[in-house]
Amino acid sequence: MFPRQFEYVAPASLDEALSALASTPGAKVMSGGQSLIPMMKLRLFSPGTVIDIGRIDGLADIVEKDDHISIGALVRHNQTASDPTVAAHAKALSQAAGWTGDHQVRNRGTTCGAMAHADVAADQPAAAIALGATMMARSSSGQREIAASDFFVDALTSALSEDEILVELRVPKASNGSRSAYDKLGRRGGHTDYAVAGIAAWVNVGDDGSVTDARIGVTGVGTRPTLAEAAAASLIGTDGGEESIRAAAGLVTDGITVIEDLYGSVEYKTHLAQVFTERALQQALAG
Ligand SMILES: Cc1cc2nc3c(=O)[nH]c(=O)nc-3n(C[C@H](O)[C@H](O)[C@H](O)COP(=O)(O)OP(=O)(O)OC[C@H]3O[C@@H](n4cnc5c(N)ncnc54)[C@H](O)[C@@H]3O)c2cc1C
Repeated sequence: MFPRQFEYVAPASLDEALSALASTPGAKVMSGGQSLIPMMKLRLFSPGTVIDIGRIDGLADIVEKDDHISIGALVRHNQTASDPTVAAHAKALSQAAGWTGDHQVRNRGTTCGAMAHADVAADQPAAAIALGATMMARSSSGQREIAASDFFVDALTSALSEDEILVELRVPKASNGSRSAYDKLGRRGGHTDYAVAGIAAWVNVGDDGSVTDARIGVTGVGTRPTLAEAAAASLIGTDGGEESIRAAAGLVTDGITVIEDLYGSVEYKTHLAQVFTERALQQALAG
């Protein structure tokens, strides 16, 4: 199917893009186009104007700062997946980006676009919430920070306002005891395609080997990527052994409304979430 007719704007600067967005109600930003274009072809989205930010300089870099890694709006999934600094400090994000779609999608789609799109089964959002990342949203009236845990509001709905562009994802750098991992079952088996259930685990381990902090991001099973707070809390103060991992996995869907869809029943998705919580925690705790 063809999309409905729309105006196409390709600003040369961020300021130009922001003022076009502010003055064109209902316009949609396009970064990689890997979700926007299919949605327009299916006529699920029919924006009057598409603002393509793909030609703006200075948005395609991954930069290591003192306490965080900055991932610009036009950093592609493959760039996030192959960047050694991201792998060293934010393994869960690196893995989630590497298991997003196929090579064509990973070469065009952007990490920030995957956040802004807020698909219920997207991989990288689970990593962003587990890693305690921050979204930097800019409009023509200024910039604001949104914690990743507050960013995913509902299916295909983020906390961005209509006039805001997600210009950067900030991921905290790992400290000595912190590490993370992402694991999933994709819709076509293994790690391929959107997550039927995907789990990002982040843990901080003290000098005595006990877990001093933990966050677990869940995707695929509910209506939005969500932190499994009870599961993470149950790990804190434990030795991070098999028993505490199993106990945490048993709590992973507490507070999450698991949704049945084409890919599984509530029981199956709950089971998968538990299995992948165990796997992600084992990997994260093993370092
Ligand atoms: C065949 C196929 C397989 C896929 N498999 C997976 C998968 O396994 N796992 C997975 O997680 N995803 C998967 N995806 C989705 C893919 O990751 C998309 O690239 C991603 O979700 C959106 O990134 P994008 O840069 O292409 O955004 P676009 O398609 O350009 O935009 C998507 C939405 O986000 C908004 N947006 C984009 N960038 C910004 C921004 N910087 N600021 C504000 N709003 C913005 C747009 O307005 C639009 O509403 C798949 C897609 C395809 C086509």
